[in-house]
Amino acid sequence: MSFEALGLHASILTALTEAGYTKPTPVQEQAIPAALQNRDLLVSSQTGSGKTAAFMLPALHKFAVAEQQTGTQRTPNQDRQAARARGERPRFQPAQPRMLVLTPTRELALQVTTATAKYGSSLRRVRAVSILGGMPYPKQMQLLSRNPEILVATPGRLIDHMESGKIDFSELQMLVLDEADRMLDMGFIEDIEKIVAATPDTRQTMLFSATLDGVVGSMARRITREPQVIQI
Ligand code: AMP
Repeated sequence: MSFEALGLHASILTALTEAGYTKPTPVQEQAIPAALQNRDLLVSSQTGSGKTAAFMLPALHKFAVAEQQTGTQRTPNQDRQAARARGERPRFQPAQPRMLVLTPTRELALQVTTATAKYGSSLRRVRAVSILGGMPYPKQMQLLSRNPEILVATPGRLIDHMESGKIDFSELQMLVLDEADRMLDMGFIEDIEKIVAATPDTRQTMLFSATLDGVVGSMARRITREPQVIQI
């Protein structure tokens, strides 16, 4: 099986070749085709299995297709840039991400953001930013004001920004819970429930966890719709 056979966009295939990836890992082989068909996913897999690319490649594929279709159409970001160029100081508009990745730790969030930049290097308009506890607020406000397509966040800090109106999830298409079992072990269940409740029901949800039993399993079933279950 090759990445090409999985149906990924040419711009992503180029980035994968540059990264030196020759073939998908088992979790990628199963998750990517299902994710491309907009299926919800429940994946039990370990760190090191290639799970980041398993959710990020299909997401970037969809962004690449959308970028091609909108072509010359102006994006909200371009409108914001044009207003700035005219010397207007637009009042703060909330970020409207199309994808949200929740991770238990800062380190994992930064790894996901770095991997996204690598896999999406040829997509001009797609940017991922990390929203993390411990990062200064002014810096985060600056990142959010650029209206990134992808937010990678730890739950606590994200809730702060949500509650102060800095983020609007009405345009969210994809939600990923990475290492969901660790997020629950760290006591994030209420934050996660609150965040999920703020996202549209039409979203695609992909949950990755070492285990799909117990509390994480029941939460996973509550927040997904007819998910494809993948056990590696
Ligand atoms: P992850 O499980 O997402 O943390 O990925 C573990 C490591 O495997 C990372 O260093 C990735 O860059 C690498 N990786 C992911 N997918 C592939 C692949 N298909 N071929 C080679 N390396 C990969």
